[in-house]
Amino acid sequence: METRIGFGYDSHVFKAGVPLRIGGMTLDYPEGLAGHSDGDVLLHAVTDALLGAVAAGDIGSFFPPSDPRWKGADSAIFLKLAIDELRHAGYHVVNVDITLILAKPKIGPVAGAMRATVADLLGVGIDQVSIKAKTPEGLNLDHVAQCHAVALVERIKEPEGLKSISDVVESQRQLEDVVEDLLSSVHGVPKKRVAPVYDTEDIT
Ligand SMILES: [Zn+2]
Repeated sequence: METRIGFGYDSHVFKAGVPLRIGGMTLDYPEGLAGHSDGDVLLHAVTDALLGAVAAGDIGSFFPPSDPRWKGADSAIFLKLAIDELRHAGYHVVNVDITLILAKPKIGPVAGAMRATVADLLGVGIDQVSIKAKTPEGLNLDHVAQCHAVALVERIKEPEGLKSISDVVESQRQLEDVVEDLLSSVHGVPKKRVAPVYDTEDIT
């Protein structure tokens, strides 16, 4: 098994009047996260973790804030690109472990739904996604949401280009049958395959 690991970090400041998007979900809260896109701090950290795992750059290199196309964009788009990059490099996600750091709102009540949402976006099972949340004790960062994410990825097994031995043997037999049929019909050469020595008629 060939594995690699990636780490991602992101932070966004809270801002009134925008929806709060975290983990691909819209949370019920009077403030959202400021950003060029939808400000989904969690998906941005996971995107960077996946890109980092295969040394494919970072979210900013693919989606520069200067590009107007990404204004208000659903961050699931960024994650999808990271998954494509990962597959292109020949890897798939084993698991991701995520820690959110924010004063409010409480993540605990929605953590299960958030895990399911992120797992869906990643195309993995919910047991492959961990989401933990902490408050920024002593950091004086109650107006900021931060996220750390680590991702383990594993090389995808090579597609079975070579058939199993039994398949090869079977196709060889079929080929021989075809050749025998051809020889038999063209030259009147009897088939090699020998009929059973006995049949029930003979025995009785
Ligand atoms: Zn971000």
